[in-house]
Amino acid sequence: MFKFSKKMVALATAISLGVGVPAAPAAEAFSIGDAIGIGVAGAQIAAARKQAMAQADKEIKYYNETEEGRYALLEKFKEQYGVETDYELNQRMDNMMASLTEAVAKVDPSIREKPYIYFVNSQESFNAFCAMGHVMSVNAGAFRFVANDDELAAVVGHEMTHGQKNHTASSVRRNINHAVNAAAAGAVLGGIVGSLTSNIALVHANAHNSKKDEKEADEGAFIYITHSNYNPGACAAIWQRMLEKYGNNDQHGIDLLLGPSDHPNHGARRDKYEKSLYEYSGKHVHVKDGKVTVNGKDFAQVAPDAGMSGAERAYFVQGNLAAAYKNGHNKSEAYVQDGTVMLGAQPIIKPVKGDESADVLAQRLNSIK
Ligand SMILES: [Zn+2]
Repeated sequence: MFKFSKKMVALATAISLGVGVPAAPAAEAFSIGDAIGIGVAGAQIAAARKQAMAQADKEIKYYNETEEGRYALLEKFKEQYGVETDYELNQRMDNMMASLTEAVAKVDPSIREKPYIYFVNSQESFNAFCAMGHVMSVNAGAFRFVANDDELAAVVGHEMTHGQKNHTASSVRRNINHAVNAAAAGAVLGGIVGSLTSNIALVHANAHNSKKDEKEADEGAFIYITHSNYNPGACAAIWQRMLEKYGNNDQHGIDLLLGPSDHPNHGARRDKYEKSLYEYSGKHVHVKDGKVTVNGKDFAQVAPDAGMSGAERAYFVQGNLAAAYKNGHNKSEAYVQDGTVMLGAQPIIKPVKGDESADVLAQRLNSIK
């Protein structure tokens, strides 16, 4: 899904604006040497472009802001990508959207006025998207790719930032504007406007967010997740997982989420989230190569578990420690409860085979925290 290259996107956009529209004969308007003719044609083209954009803005507003348009878009996407009926996946999606909606509302109450409408689509690749109108979809394959729903929440939080910041509608408008400006004079005069209505979904589906928008979406995901009950370490963990499964620069899988190839690679995005976690912990907790350090001192080399490598799982330990510091649990003693190392009320790590024992880790944490 959304595997169009940038070039193909431009082409698709151009086609959707141009095909089927008979080009008006422009020759006479452009006859060489006819200075007045050129002037008139120039003004006509400018007016036609303005009209095309006014029509586009009307269309965008319909899909982005009206309930009728939002639901029309939802139906188009359901038709295009199929609807996953698996009960468990849909339950997970419902729970996640409810949790993340609450989290987003804490920082951006406008979500109450335009709640997300969503579905799990039946595609097997790892992808998720947020269209205009807060229309959201997550591939069934994404649920199967992640180690847990915290990681999926990091992905969906990224998409919800695109929604909250109106990135998609803006990029659709940019695409259309670019196509209108690039179109031949004949096509402009012939009426670019007419074909928008039937093709806006296509224009939308292939809209690419800018590099700046992608950066903002990554940052937004972290902000939202730290206002939820999900582990904030999941943001770094999912990119560690991507790195391990697909390599550092491979564009396989989630094109929209990954963004075009000029985006930071998986490792860079992971490291940026690690830095955010470090800041969030009050500069107490770091992770590198599966090793967790507290105040610059070794705490634990994390073992693999639950389908995660040690490196991936370590970010969840960092997320727990960061939350403990953020919420003041570090003022309490570390102890062991039912096999889990606790810091105050915050669970930190439940050791598995390959980890050091909970008693050893709790003792060490007390000596370095
Ligand atoms: Zn994105």
